[in-house]
Amino acid sequence: MSKIAIIGAGAAGIETAAVLAKQHDVMLFEKETAPLCNIRNKALLFPDFTSADELADKMIQKLEHPRISLYCGSNITDLQKVQSGWQLTDAAGNRYDSDYVVLATGYEVFDAHKKEELGYGIYPGIITSIDLEKMIREGKITNAIGEAPKSVTFLQCVGSRDEKSGNHYCSKVCCVTAVKQAIEVRKMLPNTTAYVFYMDLRMWGQGFEEMYRTAQEQYGVNFVRGRISEAASTYDQRVQLKAEDTLMGLPLNMNTDLLVLMVGMCASEGTARLAQATGIAGDYHFAQSVSEHLQDNLTKQEGLFLAGACKRPMSIQDTIQDARAAAVTILEQIS
Ligand code: SF4
Repeated sequence: MSKIAIIGAGAAGIETAAVLAKQHDVMLFEKETAPLCNIRNKALLFPDFTSADELADKMIQKLEHPRISLYCGSNITDLQKVQSGWQLTDAAGNRYDSDYVVLATGYEVFDAHKKEELGYGIYPGIITSIDLEKMIREGKITNAIGEAPKSVTFLQCVGSRDEKSGNHYCSKVCCVTAVKQAIEVRKMLPNTTAYVFYMDLRMWGQGFEEMYRTAQEQYGVNFVRGRISEAASTYDQRVQLKAEDTLMGLPLNMNTDLLVLMVGMCASEGTARLAQATGIAGDYHFAQSVSEHLQDNLTKQEGLFLAGACKRPMSIQDTIQDARAAAVTILEQIS
């Protein structure tokens, strides 16, 4: 029996731990005070509006295994290869030895403050998709003056596919998240108009295209192919947008009550640091696997494996599948 350290108790870390614990001892490290924070911050999940809490509760049950030791509030800041395996050090200076390590350090969302022209943190009424998700969880969507907004406008690709922020990649999940959130807005506030400004809509997953059609046909969500170049407050606390309708080739000025910035996924600070420390850093500070096709859970460092969105943007569904693949890869390698 081996001792395996998994860094990160999100969906990837928990799923990997649950499979590996059938045969090995698992230490699962989480820097936050509880596991699954990213899922717990969501209300409903695309494409079938599954409750995020229900999924999280089911995943937490998987941790009830005698071979899994969960260390919450333990931020692993260093990872070193030693003769007998790996040594992990947390922010408090505690050291842990393990035979193998799985990086499941996930992602963090793009910091919308960096896009000053979009006014996040400067003007009220401009929020991110994470802020809106919180409002949906709490059952109350409000504008800058605490009232139900008459119009909500979503802007795609904030911090992704963006020359200025340096992130050229697509974050993969924000198109479908905008469609899901626009439907939720229309369900909660049937008299509110919803607009989605997009570059192109990437409905790549099962059920996504159907959801997009439902948003248009059943919930009357307006999709505009265009870019918003600037957002600011009006005198009455609405949000003024300067945009371009790229289908018509026309400039567009409009006011909205709430602007939602669909923030993309970036490598988490832990992913970036530990990938750098172990020599497996890839593009945009994500961790690099040996090969995306056949060895996507392996790294060039012996005994160091990858699971989930520490490699690239990934949906929760894909993260769970990838974690299972990681566990199978590890079992093959160490048996
Ligand atoms: S998923 Fe959609 S919104 Fe997100 S970066 Fe890709 S194209 Fe843009």
